[in-house]
Amino acid sequence: MAAPVDLQIGCRCGQFGAVLKDVSPAMGSHVQCHCTDCQTAARVLGAEEQLLPRGGSDIFQTTPAHLQITNGQEHLACLRLSPKGLMRWYAGCCDTPLFNCLPHTKLAFVGIWVPALQGEAVDKAIGKVIAVVRTQEAPIGSERLREYGFNRAGFQVLARHFGALMRGQVKQTPLFDTSGKPIVVPRVLSKEERKAATPS
Ligand SMILES: [Zn+2]
Ligand SMILES: [Zn+2]
Repeated sequence: MAAPVDLQIGCRCGQFGAVLKDVSPAMGSHVQCHCTDCQTAARVLGAEEQLLPRGGSDIFQTTPAHLQITNGQEHLACLRLSPKGLMRWYAGCCDTPLFNCLPHTKLAFVGIWVPALQGEAVDKAIGKVIAVVRTQEAPIGSERLREYGFNRAGFQVLARHFGALMRGQVKQTPLFDTSGKPIVVPRVLSKEERKAATPS
């Protein structure tokens, strides 16, 4: 198996940067989510051109201990589609989607927006797609989608969480402070804003 590599993460304008350390197919799960919420979030940020052909979000799920912010932290912003929604982090300088996570640090989980990963090594480092999910919510299109891997991806999230638990890394994340509060106050969409951005 190829040696793990560090991958740079960058926004579209280059003012925000982060690094994902020791990336290999074994330390994460490459998944593609076609759910309406992921499509809506991309539309709010004007990032539709970074979606897959059928509106899917290309995500590399891993544990947040691998993530380090390197520059432009002041541009980091966070969006929630509802008061209970996922935390969807983005670079406010140019509205590039970056990370998804839960609103607390009890589960060692982060989803990295694959289009923000940079360099020649990305495809090999994150490995093949192990799950394509929520395809019934994809807009009509010519590319055929096959749904698979939902349970496998879920199992891998838990397996990585327990690994992080053994290593004492569950709460190790650059997105929350030591008291478990997110480092920026999330912007929660109003019902009207959410409805306006939801694909019909
Ligand atoms: Zn930017
Ligand atoms: Zn989704």
